[in-house]
Formats: sequence, structure tokens, C-alpha cells
Amino acid sequence: MADKTNTDPQRMEKIVSLCKRRGFIFQAGELYGGLNGCWDYGPLGAELKRNLKDYWWRTTVQERDDVVGMDGAILTMQQVLVASGHVGGFSDPMVDCKTCKGRFRADNVASMQCPEKPSCCVGGSPKCELTEAREFNLMFKTKMGASADENDPNATAYLRPETAQSIFVQYKNVLDSSRVKLPFGIAQVGKSFRNEINPRNYTFRSREFEQMEIEYFCHPEDGMRLTDEWLETRLKFYEEIGIPRTKLHILDVPDGERAFYSQKTYDIEYEFPFGVQELEGVAYRTDYDLGVHQKGSGRPLEYFDEETKEKFLPHVVEPSAGCDRTVLALICEAFDEETLTDDKGKEDVRTVMRFTPRMAPIKVGIFPLLKKNEEQVRIAKEIQKKLQPWMNVFYDDSGAVGRRYRRQDEVGTPYGITIDFETLGEGGEELKNTVTLRHRDSMEQERIAIDALLPWLLERVR
Ligand code: ATP
Repeated sequence: MADKTNTDPQRMEKIVSLCKRRGFIFQAGELYGGLNGCWDYGPLGAELKRNLKDYWWRTTVQERDDVVGMDGAILTMQQVLVASGHVGGFSDPMVDCKTCKGRFRADNVASMQCPEKPSCCVGGSPKCELTEAREFNLMFKTKMGASADENDPNATAYLRPETAQSIFVQYKNVLDSSRVKLPFGIAQVGKSFRNEINPRNYTFRSREFEQMEIEYFCHPEDGMRLTDEWLETRLKFYEEIGIPRTKLHILDVPDGERAFYSQKTYDIEYEFPFGVQELEGVAYRTDYDLGVHQKGSGRPLEYFDEETKEKFLPHVVEPSAGCDRTVLALICEAFDEETLTDDKGKEDVRTVMRFTPRMAPIKVGIFPLLKKNEEQVRIAKEIQKKLQPWMNVFYDDSGAVGRRYRRQDEVGTPYGITIDFETLGEGGEELKNTVTLRHRDSMEQERIAIDALLPWLLERVR
């Protein structure tokens, strides 16, 4: 088994630097010094994240008969989060250091470094003087309405700490309006907010992040089996987006460490350069959630099975993935530095992001060999227009073509096409209207007819 504490800070530094340099991820509010725990995705990061969310939605909702989607409000009623237990108990233990005034999560203070004085709290050294642990609620609280009174409980709302609660609260409406039958799932992708005590490891632990969650409602008898099935489905998903099974670890969370209502929880963890850490939780939550909302609202949430005439509260299996964490895993997995040796024996390092084509932010680079050749430029632009409705492409006519290839390698574009003299028929009739197709990973080149490009690419990038 891999050493779970294995880390590679140097690799992580290179990744963070590339992400900023090429426009994947920026710190939020960087111009003003930065907003801790919040991140903005630049042009390429936004494409990557969208590809991930779209693929998740397609395979989880659209290609399944038993899952429907929803898109709930971020602002959440206090009553919902009181019933779910978040107002009373969604907290982390926090300690303060009297020496440096730093604030830490009590359960991992040993691995934290003091932000003020590195000599103080490194690993909870004797120099730091920690207070007793106190519970710190992780939810962002706000007031709704222009005349909101500080003391009016009805004016209090929260930014949701997970997407799950709106699914539970709307479960009955979805059931009554969609003609779904057990077992079925409701899926949602969206922002969640947690006032994390120590945001860290780049985007891994943020205060604003996106989740991709499924609440799968089932008969109580099927809960355990479906939890195992969902684990497999989710592992397959990671493989399909380019995160190999060998880099994933499954933690079967032991008794005593699971939420009290959960009968089974698997954490799917990935080998990040900062250690093996959670990407997704697959939890069997029993009938806890529907139970608390039935009680809290006073409205019946039972399911009536027409066939067996049974009436019961469905149980729930929840695969809950972090979108930003998965984007980070995709980036970490893709990053590669390859040493190339040219004909004269000169060495050169090629930085290449080996995204699987379906996740790559740009699917194909389009290059006229010579910027000054009007015919090459015209054909290149024509190809660009033809491909654009189907995929994100990038047109580039500046600099030597080798340099253009390298720039695309660095952002993970899997294919490059070059419109050259052969395209114009100068290499003979049989090569006319063909282009050079270059593969990012092998750097091999072949010729392909312009007319064959679209179907060839569609087969590979979806
Ligand atoms: P952790 O133990 O890392 O705090 P968690 O077990 O509290 O995570 P869940 O409540 O199960 O997380 O949330 C489901 C998923 O949402 C996590 O697996 C993770 O991918 C994502 N997630 C949770 N908190 C954050 C965060 N602060 N930043 C980014 N993603 C998060």
C-alpha cells in the first residue's frame, strides 16, 4: 500500500505556478491582497470545471433512467438547517494560540504552521500556548430583507453548507411531480459554503466550493447493497475522467468515526502531492434526513409502494463529490515534465498537461503554418468556424509552429492541426485538403482529410 503521508511540495509549487501563469486558477481578490479560502477560475480553469460538471451531469442524470436533477437555492431557511442539525452541530473544534494569536483546527494543530511566527506553533511546539478547544460553527449566516431585525429569527438565513438539504426538503415535490419510483436519485451541482478555520492546500479546502451530490432514495433493505454499487459507479467515473484506480484509495470509515446516523461510509481518496486526501464520500445515511425533516416540518414524507401497499420513509445513499477537489486532482494527475533529447543530443524539458481529451479545456489547436499565407489562414479560420459549435478550439498563428505546439502542450490540448503547403495541394493531389494532425502525448503526426476532422474529433473528446 502507498505511503499515505508521501508528499511532493516541489511538484505542487510547479502546479500552482502553472495554474496562475496559464489562467487556470487565481486567488480571489488577488489585486487587493487576496481573499483567504476563495478562488477564481480563469479562462482555462472555467472550461476544465465546466467539462467536469457537464460530464458528471450527463453520466449521472441524463444517461440514467433512475436519477433526476435539481437546482436549489443557495440561501437556506434557518428551520431547514435547525432540523438537519447544522445549526446546532455543524462545527469544528477550534483553538487559539495566546503567543501568536493564530487560530487553528484543534484536530490537526500538529500539522499546522503558525501564520504569524513560524517558530511558534510549528507542529504545536511547546512555545505555543493553546486555549481549550471551542466549537466553531462553520456556516455563513446572513440576514434577509431590507428591514431585517438582528433579533428576528425569521430574517436569518444561511449560505448552504452542502447541496444535500434542498434535495431532502424538495424530495416530496420531486416525487409528486416526476412520476419517479423507488429506487431513484436526485442530483445537484452547486456552490456550498463553509467558514473553514484553516483553508489550505490550494483549492482543496476552500470556504466557497462546489459540490456534485446525489441523494439516492431506496427501500431500507437495499441501502447497504446500493452503497457498494454507488462506490463502484463513482470509481468508474474517476477512471473515465482520467484519474486511474491505482491513485485512488478507498477508506471504509470505521465505526465511531462515521456520522452517528450513517451505517456505512466510504471515503474515496486521491494521492495529491500534499498527501492522500478525500475527493468524495459515499455514505449510507439511512432515513435520518427525511426523518428529521418530517419531524421538523410536521409534514409526512413517507413513500407509498403501490405494489406492496407498504408505507415507509425511504433510506438514502449519498455519493457526495467535491467539484473543486476533483478539478485539482485532474490538474495534479495531468501535470508532467518530460525530458526530450533532440538530434544533436541537446536536452529540453517539455511541460505537458496530460488531460484526458474529454476533460481538456481546449480540444484542438488550429495553426496555419505561415501567418502570411492567406490561403492557409483562410482554411484555418474555416476549420475553426466548423469545429466551434461542437467543442472549444484555439486558433494561433503567432511564432514558429513548434512553439505553438508547446504552448498547447502546457495547457493540455490533446490535438493540434496544422494547415500547411500540402493542404493547398503543393505536395501532390492526394494530400490536397488534408492537414497535419499532431498528438500531444506521443507528439506523433499524421495526415487527415479536413472533411474527416469533425467526426474523428467528436469520437474522442466527448
Ligand atoms: P473534509 O473531511 O475534507 O472536511 P467532509 O467529509 O466534511 O470533508 P463532506 O461534508 O462529506 O466533506 O462533503 C462532501 C465533499 O465536498 C467532500 O468529499 C469534498 O470533496 C467536498 N468538500 C467539503 N468541504 C470542502 C471544502 N472546504 N473545500 C472544498 N471541497 C470541500
